[in-house]
Amino acid sequence: MNDCIFCKIIAGEIPAKKLYEDDDVLAFWDISPKAPVHFLVIPKKHIPRPVDVKEDDDPLTGKLFRIGAQLAGEKGVGDDYRVIFNNGEKSGQEVFHLHMHILGGKGKPWAM
Ligand code: 5GP
Ligand code: ZN
Repeated sequence: MNDCIFCKIIAGEIPAKKLYEDDDVLAFWDISPKAPVHFLVIPKKHIPRPVDVKEDDDPLTGKLFRIGAQLAGEKGVGDDYRVIFNNGEKSGQEVFHLHMHILGGKGKPWAM
């Protein structure tokens, strides 16, 4: 097992408030929300950064967007939300397991 905190959430070793889970994807609420609605959608496959995505991952990364949109709709922000991927430390990436931030709700714009 590696040291990745999101791999540990996937493995159930660290608790998280999950919104969605299937064989490929997990979504959970961000522990430190920057907007009224702020959750993360991640692949179960450990991919460190957006720049590490390979052609074989195209269906998986596409699925992140589809599930993110579905969940945004279920949480009442389906028409207005922001999608953020950070790539690299200087961009603000703190967890090196690919994750899509979804931010929405009252008080936009949602800064990160
Ligand atoms: P980054 O800055 O890497 O793009 O975003 C990482 C995000 O993960 C941050 O918004 C942070 O609040 C969230 N985060 C970090 N550790 C945990 C955790 O253990 N549980 C949950 N639910 N979110 C986390
Ligand atoms: Zn990981």
